[in-house]
Amino acid sequence: MAVLLGCIADDFTGGADLAGMLVKAGMKTIQLIGVPTGLGPKDVDAIVIALKSRTNSVTEAVDESLKALEWLKSQDCQQFYFKYCSTFDSTSAGNIGPVAEALMKALNTNFTIACPAFPANKRSIYKGHLFVGDELLSESGMRNHPLTPMMDSNLVRVLQKQVTAKVGLTDYSVVKGGSGVIQKRFADLQKDGYQFSIVDALSDIDLHSIGAACADLPLVTGGSGIALGLPENFRKKGLLKTSADADKLGDAGGLRAVISGSCSVATQEQVRLMKAHSPAYHLDPLALADGKNVVREALEWAAQHIASGPVLIYATSAPEEVRNIQERLGIDKAGAMVEDALAGIARGLVRSGVGQLIVAGGETSGAVVKALGISGLRIGSEIAPGVPWTKAIFEDSTVQPLMLALKSGNFGGPQFFNEAWDYIK
Ligand code: ADP
Repeated sequence: MAVLLGCIADDFTGGADLAGMLVKAGMKTIQLIGVPTGLGPKDVDAIVIALKSRTNSVTEAVDESLKALEWLKSQDCQQFYFKYCSTFDSTSAGNIGPVAEALMKALNTNFTIACPAFPANKRSIYKGHLFVGDELLSESGMRNHPLTPMMDSNLVRVLQKQVTAKVGLTDYSVVKGGSGVIQKRFADLQKDGYQFSIVDALSDIDLHSIGAACADLPLVTGGSGIALGLPENFRKKGLLKTSADADKLGDAGGLRAVISGSCSVATQEQVRLMKAHSPAYHLDPLALADGKNVVREALEWAAQHIASGPVLIYATSAPEEVRNIQERLGIDKAGAMVEDALAGIARGLVRSGVGQLIVAGGETSGAVVKALGISGLRIGSEIAPGVPWTKAIFEDSTVQPLMLALKSGNFGGPQFFNEAWDYIK
């Protein structure tokens, strides 16, 4: 069966955010890392291709996005989605506008919306102005972002600077009228020569109305919030029937391990509480720097303990210890050495039968995913907000099944490492 929704996200965590939203709304979803070369996955409703195109040059971002679109088209996707940040992170040159325009051209369509609103995360749009909580975008912390400072909260103006087409507005007086009124506004804007509309949204009810009004648009662009309303369109057309089991990943087997390279406050506590119940091995960066084979030592240690329950292997240290190590080894060298070692340990653990693995730390997760040769993730149920269980899709299809939870440093409650196992469905 054809894939219903083909999505292109401009960064990895944004892709995961969108994939999680689609799963919650009942769509079986996988996230692929970069543009795939091979055949597509079977039995999914939505595919999210996560790029790293938010801060590339405009040309690179457009090229990569078009490649992703071509591949998604080969999967017969019925509708396409371009996902960017809910704070519309971009420079005056792009990349949101140029990528959206290039995708429209490639899809032979001349109208789309741009709606980064995500009310659940306090991003709302009123009269075209984006608010972050109670503040205008331009008065929020985003004005000081190191790569994409947002100095203007008027999204019509911001997008207009990035595109050649005309940008209009579907404001709240229209949105509150529901999907029929919104669709009429889209038609009127098109008649007047507009190719984009910023759309106001203050609540999830608005997102559902806007989603319904987008049922026949070949391309939708927005944050992850706007994805909330799209699955219902496919359901109404009789194309989506899988809502109850969208987050089921199949049987989980194998041994259990936690690898932690995060030194964030939440992870410190999670490590402390897991150590109280489970065997734990502390990876010493100075031993690594001395050339000791720490990976082998950790794997030999794990082999002795893992049969009787989850083990923890962690580099996580208190801030003063981390500072001490960074002073001795250099920040970048210490980080890269620890990431490499933890990635090597992850590879060894999976080879020796680990089938359920939690990794703590954004950079650490990136290193582990790369070392394991993972090309995609089937998204399952949430353990904590923003952290779902996933099932790894490997470049090499002979690898045994692996359930993976990739936890950003500050995510998850104190008992995350002890309780996450209960959430595998
Ligand atoms: P988070 O999501 O908490 O930011 P990351 O994995 O993204 O976690 O970043 C943590 C960084 O700190 C990684 O590069 C990791 O290798 C490094 N690191 C972990 N433990 C130590 C340590 N004890 N000393 C120095 N660096 C460390």
